[in-house]
Amino acid sequence: MTAHETDKYVYDFAEGNKDLKDLLGGKGANLAEMTNLGLPVPPGFTITTGACQAYLATGREPDGLAGQIEAHLQALEREMGRRLGDPDDPLLVSVRSGARFSMPGMMETVLNVGLNDRSVVGLARQAGGSAGPTASGGSADPTASGGNDRFAWDSYRRLIQMFGKTVCEVPGEEFEHALDEAKRAKGTHDDLDLDADDLRGLVETYKKIFAEHTGREFPQEPREQLDLAIRAVFESWNAERAILYRRQERIPADLGTAVNVVAMVFGNLGPDSGTGVAFTRDPGSGAQGIYGDYLANAQGEDVVAGIRNTVPLQELERLDKTSYDQLLDIMARLEGHYQDLCDIEFTIERGKLWMLQTRVGKRTAAAAFVIAGQLVDEGLIDLDEALHRVNGAQLAQLMFPRFQLDHDVPPVARGIGASPGAASGAVVFTSARAVELAAEGKAVILVRRETNPDDLNGMIAAQGILTSRGGKTSHAAVVARGMGKTCVSGADEIEVNVPAKRFTVGGRTVSEGDVVSIDGTTGKVYLGEVPVVPSEVVQYFEGSLDPAHVDNALVRAVHRIMTHADARRRLAVRTNADTGADAARARRFGAEGIGLCRTEHMFLGDRRELVERLILAATDTDRTDALAALLPLQRQDFVEIFREMAGLPVTVRLIDPPLHEFLPPLEQLAVNVAVAQERGEDVAKEEALLAAVRRMHEENPMLGLRGVRLGLVIPGLFAMQVRAIAEAAVAVTRDGGAACPEIMVPLVGAVQELETVRAEAEKIIAEVVGDSGVEVLIGTMIEVPRAALTAGQIAEAAQFFSFGTNDLTQMGWGFSRDDVEGAFFWRYLELGIFGISPFESIDRDGVGRLIRIAAEEGRAARPGLKLGVCGEHGGDPDSVHFFHEVGLDYVSCSPFRVPVARLEAGRAAIETTGSDSR
Ligand code: ADP
Ligand code: MG
Ligand code: MG
Repeated sequence: MTAHETDKYVYDFAEGNKDLKDLLGGKGANLAEMTNLGLPVPPGFTITTGACQAYLATGREPDGLAGQIEAHLQALEREMGRRLGDPDDPLLVSVRSGARFSMPGMMETVLNVGLNDRSVVGLARQAGGSAGPTASGGSADPTASGGNDRFAWDSYRRLIQMFGKTVCEVPGEEFEHALDEAKRAKGTHDDLDLDADDLRGLVETYKKIFAEHTGREFPQEPREQLDLAIRAVFESWNAERAILYRRQERIPADLGTAVNVVAMVFGNLGPDSGTGVAFTRDPGSGAQGIYGDYLANAQGEDVVAGIRNTVPLQELERLDKTSYDQLLDIMARLEGHYQDLCDIEFTIERGKLWMLQTRVGKRTAAAAFVIAGQLVDEGLIDLDEALHRVNGAQLAQLMFPRFQLDHDVPPVARGIGASPGAASGAVVFTSARAVELAAEGKAVILVRRETNPDDLNGMIAAQGILTSRGGKTSHAAVVARGMGKTCVSGADEIEVNVPAKRFTVGGRTVSEGDVVSIDGTTGKVYLGEVPVVPSEVVQYFEGSLDPAHVDNALVRAVHRIMTHADARRRLAVRTNADTGADAARARRFGAEGIGLCRTEHMFLGDRRELVERLILAATDTDRTDALAALLPLQRQDFVEIFREMAGLPVTVRLIDPPLHEFLPPLEQLAVNVAVAQERGEDVAKEEALLAAVRRMHEENPMLGLRGVRLGLVIPGLFAMQVRAIAEAAVAVTRDGGAACPEIMVPLVGAVQELETVRAEAEKIIAEVVGDSGVEVLIGTMIEVPRAALTAGQIAEAAQFFSFGTNDLTQMGWGFSRDDVEGAFFWRYLELGIFGISPFESIDRDGVGRLIRIAAEEGRAARPGLKLGVCGEHGGDPDSVHFFHEVGLDYVSCSPFRVPVARLEAGRAAIETTGSDSR
């Protein structure tokens, strides 16, 4: 966009509204909204994100901006009856950044712009003249106590500090040290004990610091202060930490920030003034009530900066009942208006309440559900809207086991909750030690400064991972999330000493073998073992908590919203389950069938022996014997699963992994043979095995003899499995049950492969099924890119498609999953090549495109072709929305993620029907 003279860059608060966030940023849009609601907002104006974009594109303020700022400033001066920085009676303003999305990495606000060596005197005089100090009990004469002198010099030193730090990059500690020094000289820890003279002295020191670091005097010209502050806000958009934050949060880089210029109101005028923050409900639990903090005689950031102890908001009722009642009134109005939990910032200036910010507030996962439920009860929103306001990631969080709430162990450190869950174990400092102890059956927590790819084995072996460095995209965090393993990263109070095998925290030493507990949701670290309990939400899904009888707001809200999601969704949700027990749990969690039953485990355990015989078979008879021995065992496995699923569809995948995975590893066999030979034992069998393993060795097993290729190369293997499935289905049906098997052929790339397998399978099925009424479908997995691209041909031979998105991602990207995630994905995330691993969330543009093509061409060739997905993506919230959009019939995921998929399928359905009201 090119800037021209006529572009409107500045909006008065009265001109905006809450829907103009793109233009005015979140803060500006909501200040406008509150202004138009008639709430007491100090007057001001907003400079648009467009002005920022133009500035960033050209390196200078766009034409017309200066003039528009001047006009709005003059209007503000008229309204306030004061001029910016007037020596006798100054108007002061704050300059506040505020982007479309709230960004903690952005510039801080500059308060008190307009103060200088002369207006500070005018401010003191005016402050004293307008009203007398009250609670201090002194006289109304400002010169007597110096109370308002104090206020003016306090405001001035704050300006130099904030301006120096955020506009001119003077290190903030310099100012803080000077302040500490002043307090020390006075023999106090409380900034309120500093009087006007102390603060005047501090201003001198601050000015020296400013001049030393910037090479110029602190700017005295008010308008210059304003312009420099505005420009600094523009530029803060491209500060390194802002860029990093945007990358992590997937916020587009070109939005720019708005700038709000707001007339100052003063919470630091004395004990009858103050500042606070509040929530309209508890953002932790969702409970209704009054939640907030208040700090008397303070300005802006003091509340959150923790320089003095705040008091609970309820205290305000005692301190200033009028303002308190008005505040509660306003909070109720805001909730009604935004129809949601709001958080607010306010200031009281000598008994007069001012609103400085509001927004729909952040909340925990539990609060999100509880509040959505409450708002439905209160008639503020409908169930569609409630469903829209929660999400699968929140539900997943509520399903992790957690530490027992009433444990009395205080945390010793707090880092970043990088991967949720609760884990306890013995501390170890190296990957090797983690593996050793885990092999002995010990639970361990791997503690590192940061992890790297060499730590992978240790991370797999550990219950949890604790690092003292790194954020949410560090190696530890990314890999742990990928593994679903609990991780706390960046716990920087911890000093890790790997060679000494210990860490220290808060003066305590924790050595290898000592037990710690980490909470990957809150980031808290505890010494010793903290008991873990299954979450209430899981108990509810398991059926052990009845929402009708339980006095638990969370469980009731989850129940209500899940029921609505089920009513709304079009996608069916199945589960990936290989055993009767998994199938049973998944059904309790709401699964409507099995989308992927792997048959690999049916070749393991005591059946290995038979598999070895099969692989080593020298003659057709040997092979047929081995297969015949496997048949009844597999049939029994299927009988159990079909019974458990009671007539729901069960997709069984024929054997997929390379056969040598069922044999012992080469090195181990070689050693066995050597040892046995040494002892003079008969080694014929071992030697034969060893030779077979050598023969079957593959450079790239993922791309080798597996899936349908096995079926085509090893006679009788698929036939045995097909027979076991069909016979199990008939047996269950004969017993009065029902079975709906769907046989899925893996790794097909060409229709000819499928046709060959299908012809043989159909013969067997016809023979087994006879007149039992059992129907067996035959379809294929779409997981080789070629299959997706020739889906029209393949559909001719397939009664259903199931997208194997794990392999489709591996082969689509050419990534070997087991190798790349631990080795270098952290770097790809850091560079922003993708925002999330494509194995976690479907890559819409690439892999997703293959799915789209296959779905369209498959259905064109065979109308009504049943389409599903069975990769782990089936339980990923964002991917579920994609599968809904593409028109699949179902998703399938691990039992634990079934509820998440149900919820997201419901959300996807209401979003596409357009009932999104926000
Ligand atoms: P953030 O986005 O970090 O919350 P804000 O722009 O909201 O930054 O400002 C920081 C602090 O300064 C907040 O406590 C806010 O209420 C306070 N503040 C901002 N503008 C004014 C003003 N005009 N008068 C008094 N306090 C203000
Ligand atoms: Mg704020
Ligand atoms: Mg596969």
